[in-house]
Order: sequence, then C-alpha cells, then structure tokens
Amino acid sequence: MNYRHAYHAGNFADVVKHLALTAILLHLRKKAAPFAVIDTHAGRGTYDLADERAARTGEAANGIGKLGGVQADGALGDYLRIAGGGAHYPGSPLIAAALLRPQDRLVAIEKHPDEFAALKAALAGARNARAEEGDGYARLPALLPPPERRGVVLIDPPFEADDEFAAQAEALRIGLRRWATGIFLLWFPVKSAAEANAFSGEILNAGAKKAVRIDLDVGLEAPTIGTRTRLSATGLIAVNAPYGFAEEMREALAQIAPLLSAKAESTVRVLAGED
Ligand code: SAM
Repeated sequence: MNYRHAYHAGNFADVVKHLALTAILLHLRKKAAPFAVIDTHAGRGTYDLADERAARTGEAANGIGKLGGVQADGALGDYLRIAGGGAHYPGSPLIAAALLRPQDRLVAIEKHPDEFAALKAALAGARNARAEEGDGYARLPALLPPPERRGVVLIDPPFEADDEFAAQAEALRIGLRRWATGIFLLWFPVKSAAEANAFSGEILNAGAKKAVRIDLDVGLEAPTIGTRTRLSATGLIAVNAPYGFAEEMREALAQIAPLLSAKAESTVRVLAGED
C-alpha cells in the first residue's frame, strides 16, 4: 500500500470523478427521501495543495487549478463552489459531506492507517458522516442495501494491484445482487483502449443493465518522466445513473476539457440502458 492520493488530488481525473459524484448527489437531493453515500476507498478527505507532494507532481495545478475562471450552473457550478479556489482540495468524502442534508448519511472507508486518521479528523465536524478503518471491498456487502434504499457507492481504488479491475467488477457484481437499484460509480485509469473496453464488458457481465462510461484523455505528450508514469486518460463507469446524467456530463466536459488541455478529448457513451 504505497499509494498516496496527495500526489494526485485535484488532478484531471479527480475533477471528472468529483464532478460526476456531484451530479449524482444533486439528483438524489431532488427528492426529500434520505439517501446514503458509501465511499469504499475514501482517502484522507482533504489535501493541502501547498504540500510538497502536490507541488512535486503539479497535478492539481493542471487539474482544478485550470478551472479558476469557469462560470457554470448545475453540477459543474456546485462542484467548483465546493472544490475550487481553496488552499485545500476536498476528496470525495468531503465533497459528499458538503452535499448531505440532515436526513442523509455518508460511510467512508479507508484502509491505510495514516490516511484513515486524517480522514477521521477531516470528517469530525461533518454531520451524519462516519469514517471506518478497513478494507472497503470486504465491508461493502454488509452495508448493502442501505436502509434508505437510495444512494450511491463510489469505488475508487488505487490500482496498485494487478487484479484491481477484477476486484472492482466483482464488488459491483456482489453489490448489484444485494442492491439492484443502487447507483455505483467506478473509477479506473485508461492505460489502453483494449483494457478499458474489456473492463466495460466486465461491468455488463457483472449485471449492470444501465451504465454510462465517461473518458477524458488530456493527451499528455510525455506520459513518463524518469521512472514515474503519468496518467493521460481517466475513466469512469456510472451504473444506474439518473436520467439526464450522461447529457449533463457531456456538456460539462465540453466546457472544461479545453481548459484542462488543448489536446483533451472527452467521450460519454451509454454502455447499456437508456441515456
Ligand atoms: N476516493 C478518494 C477521492 O476521490 O478523494 C481517493 C481515493 S485514492 C484513489 C484510493 C485510496 O484507497 C487510498 O487512500 C488508499 O490508501 C485506499 N485503499 C487502498 N486499498 C484499500 C482497500 N482495500 N479498502 C479501502 N481503502 C483502500
């Protein structure tokens, strides 16, 4: 477990992931009935952008840092209000916590002890938010279906392990068996089209009947610096996403992709079910 999100927080992949999470939460807030958010790989919750690790990679500067002047309504506007312009970048649990109403609930799970300690502190003041130390994959089945019967599960692992794609697809398969109507948001790195397409197929094999895939490639010219490989393309699959989600993501990405990189290309496609 060497992965530390502090190197990457606020990068273009976080922007797409957190924008999608915001869009889903805004949809859930349209009805008064309570919802649950389960974040299986939560990270430390808040990231100091002046941290030496953020400065070393420059990823936040090339991600959220490029969106300073954006004016937008809808999910993009709310995401930027929550995440933009500050000295700290909020991770997924803090973004979710910012959008919880008194009746809603967040469970954020983190395995790494230092990251968990930071997460617990970051969520200490948040109402209805619980940090749990442990393995998010192992904990997930017991949390499903949530008593609220509405909500979203974010599965955002570090992709350090060779079998992470398989582990994610299996978590979805178990998750859908327990909670067929739940919204599941899965993040993955796009390192090759073949691997990403195979993963999309696995998501359908896992039982997803309604799925939207979002890709953003920022067209990095030098994906490798020394021994470090930089990510050029990010992927997300949203299962059971609300009506209108794909179109909202298409429009928001069309607005921000050119700001993230002159070479950026985004696609939002329906893998299964209606748009
Ligand atoms: N979701 C966070 C966000 O958007 O702000 C970022 C999460 S980061 C990509 C992945 C996190 O998962 C790391 O903090 C890592 O320590 C943690 N992790 C790794 N394996 C885990 C597991 N099996 N269960 C829970 N957390 C895990």
